[in-house]
Amino acid sequence: MNKEHKTERRLGIMGGTFDPIHYGHLVTAEGARYSFGLDRVIFVPSGRPPHKPGYIVSDPLDRYKMTCLAVASNPFFCASAIEVERPGPSFTIDTVRAVMQLYPGVKIYFITGADALLEIFKWKDFDILLTICSFVAATRPGYRLFELREKTASLPSGLKQNISYMEVPALAISSTEIRQRVHGGRPIKYLLPESVEDYIKNNKLYSK
Ligand code: ATP
Ligand code: MG
Repeated sequence: MNKEHKTERRLGIMGGTFDPIHYGHLVTAEGARYSFGLDRVIFVPSGRPPHKPGYIVSDPLDRYKMTCLAVASNPFFCASAIEVERPGPSFTIDTVRAVMQLYPGVKIYFITGADALLEIFKWKDFDILLTICSFVAATRPGYRLFELREKTASLPSGLKQNISYMEVPALAISSTEIRQRVHGGRPIKYLLPESVEDYIKNNKLYSK
């Protein structure tokens, strides 16, 4: 951790569909918190995701509640309903701006998997986004750093310097895999916090 930067408050935002949240998300956020000396990481489940055609995303309230359960044991983590409460599709730029208003003067680190960052050019106002906050791109299994570097090579250096890369333990866990396992009656234990597993069972999510 760079102590010389610690005077400034640093806030991480971990966005995602979190349908459901799992240890891949939690390990990534914790890695970013430690590596970048973040004072807090806010988990922001998306409302209606603009880039998720193809399957019906669970109710935002269920995803928010599962996120709250998952972050409860980490004093540096919290969950926000900011996108869940906002009508219409959620865009990262709007979320970052809203967080900046809530915490004036903080430096924001948007934490994302490398796979999500590879799509950055499709994001609304990505060039503005790269000016107002930093990005932490975590590698996950199957996504190589050089691919990302190649993809972002054409960005102006002022924007490029706001993207940092971070290796996280190779967790080949995805929400898709978890949903499929529940649907097929296979175990999901040890892929996500027990409290989230219980929530899924009690509310019969993903079984239909
Ligand atoms: P789905 O399979 O439904 O796409 P997901 O597991 O990819 O779900 P998301 O909610 O889409 O989860 O991802 C939220 C963020 O977490 C994204 O930036 C994604 O890249 C990152 N992420 C997801 N799974 C992992 C993992 N196992 N390791 C590191 N980062 C991850
Ligand atoms: Mg995903």
